[in-house]
Amino acid sequence: MIFLISVILQFSHGYVLEKNERSIPLHWKSKCIFLTTVESEGVFLQDVAKNLVEHWMAQIKEISSLNIILEDVVVPSEIIDEVGENTIIMVTEDWPFGVDVDAMTILTHVDEEGSELDGLLIDADVYVNDTYGRFSLSSDSSGLFTVLNHEIGHIIGLDHPCKLTPDDDPSLVGCLDSELPEVVSGSIMYPFSGSENNDMNSDDLDGISYLFPPDDQRPCSRYSSIGSEGCSCFSAAKKRNPEIKSIVIFCLVIIVLRKRLITFSSKSS
Ligand SMILES: [Zn+2]
Repeated sequence: MIFLISVILQFSHGYVLEKNERSIPLHWKSKCIFLTTVESEGVFLQDVAKNLVEHWMAQIKEISSLNIILEDVVVPSEIIDEVGENTIIMVTEDWPFGVDVDAMTILTHVDEEGSELDGLLIDADVYVNDTYGRFSLSSDSSGLFTVLNHEIGHIIGLDHPCKLTPDDDPSLVGCLDSELPEVVSGSIMYPFSGSENNDMNSDDLDGISYLFPPDDQRPCSRYSSIGSEGCSCFSAAKKRNPEIKSIVIFCLVIIVLRKRLITFSSKSS
């Protein structure tokens, strides 16, 4: 009976949530997610991001309260790898990950066993592999669009719907299995491009609706506050304010944070 229930659960939906080691789903405190692109020479990153956000909002407006807000582009000199700034960055040299990895989303969340804040997402940064200008020098931005379409799924808390690494849930089908269910291969969270279909399938939409229900009562806030004892550090984590920055550091020391690496590979690369 238990086996049957687990089978039903496994196949009742295809989306998979990002979780920490205690199986706590990673989640945002705000129903709004703010994204900022970083200026890169000759790159249409902001244009792609703008189209992408419109693409997302058009598909989810009926089923979810999630609101993705694209902010102004920032110049590289202003970049501070600071918690609370969700940035999309083109990396043109010294790409630190695998050559076949198109992009990497790094999520920062509270990692504190027993805490009500456990699993709370407080930062997400997307690094795009633009080595040799593979995206920025292309006249066609569709590849970058597809990559970022997938990475936004990671930002909001969705994982791959199939087993990609040995550490992944063993109950999932392998991402490279020969006969993948369409519900997996047709998901924007499938970690390999190929079909170039950027529309969400029903499971993607179910996952988004689960994470950000239509009647979500969460606030729409710029930063996530992680403390209940006056530690509103992240709501005040403005750049270029050394006083507030010291508070941020203080909070970071108290609450153990953990960064999780998420890979996205592409068949085309
Ligand atoms: Zn991925």
